[in-house]
Amino acid sequence: MRCLITGAAGFIGSHLAERLLAEGHEVCGIDAFTDCYPRQIKERNIEGISASNRFDFIEGDLLRLPLVALLDGVDWVFHLAAQAGVRQGWGNEFVRYIDANVLATQRLLEAAVRAGNVRRFICASSSSVYGEAACLPVNEAAPLRPVSPYGVTKVATEQLCMLYHRNCGLPVVILRYFTVYGPRQRPDMAFYRFCSALINQQPALVYGDGLQTRDVTYVDDVVEANLLAATVPAAVGRAFNIAGGAQVSIRDVLGLLEEMSGTPLPVKFLDEQRGEARNTFADISQANYVLGFSPRVGLREGLQRELDYVISYARSLTSRPYLGWPYGSISQLLGER
Ligand code: NAD
Repeated sequence: MRCLITGAAGFIGSHLAERLLAEGHEVCGIDAFTDCYPRQIKERNIEGISASNRFDFIEGDLLRLPLVALLDGVDWVFHLAAQAGVRQGWGNEFVRYIDANVLATQRLLEAAVRAGNVRRFICASSSSVYGEAACLPVNEAAPLRPVSPYGVTKVATEQLCMLYHRNCGLPVVILRYFTVYGPRQRPDMAFYRFCSALINQQPALVYGDGLQTRDVTYVDDVVEANLLAATVPAAVGRAFNIAGGAQVSIRDVLGLLEEMSGTPLPVKFLDEQRGEARNTFADISQANYVLGFSPRVGLREGLQRELDYVISYARSLTSRPYLGWPYGSISQLLGER
């Protein structure tokens, strides 16, 4: 298949590109390298695939690129480009969210209809559309009551997708991801910040009391859900929760990191932030029943892989190879620095 991934240099988009290439598909990746986090991190995300002759990369903004031409011959569109993050987006920052999540999506949908060849349009949405769900685990029929500006724009993203599905016949599938983690996680996200604090011997900064819970999803499971959404006919016109299917508190995660690394991780508790739901927990029975989705990577294994990645990234900056557990402990690593 010929695939187009928007946000291909981002955390999840780069993993999806790798998997599609590994499965023998052709991939065109688009990314604007927005300044939500450093460009060199995103460049590194796609370093491993940039040599593939089945991978084209276009640096550009969805608001300006000639999208109809770029979609010519494309079978599957994976729309992941967005301004992510629930804590920002208030005040003057909202315009960034509107541009990246609403206007860019509308322009891409319009182009997909005009191109006329798109067989599946899979859109990344978020647990943030639910806000503070009244009943957990939350299923897809729950009311959408976001508690962040980001969540509001993701509701709009979803509604636009469904509009183009109903009115123009575009074969859309919406995937609502719940806190995705793993190697290359965005640097503003909690697990990355905790791993980074651990190896830098800094306190982990936690917003609130740390008793808030999250349903967390390993990135490979999200990638698998995207492939299922592209291939299962019954998925079209629907939204699915994509999650690990278990609730974990932030304190549990910090404890697990200490246990895995054998290194104490001091914590500094900060004020709760506007925009964050207290608890998230997904009912994934629809994704299981319709898509055949079931998460495979558990928290301990996934967190270990993320920690290994953060360490190897830190080592690459000091140009020393890191061989992964159990070849080097955190304390050895720290001792060498
Ligand atoms: P990311 O920020 O790493 O990747 C998004 C990429 O989109 C960035 O590289 C950015 O440069 C690019 N981009 C933004 N606006 C663009 C535009 N107008 N034109 C072209 N490129 C543009 O984020 P991520 O964590 O990989 O998230 C991917 C998708 O999944 C997003 O839609 C996000 O809202 C959604 N999501 C992520 C999570 C999570 O836990 N990471 C959870 C729920 C939903």
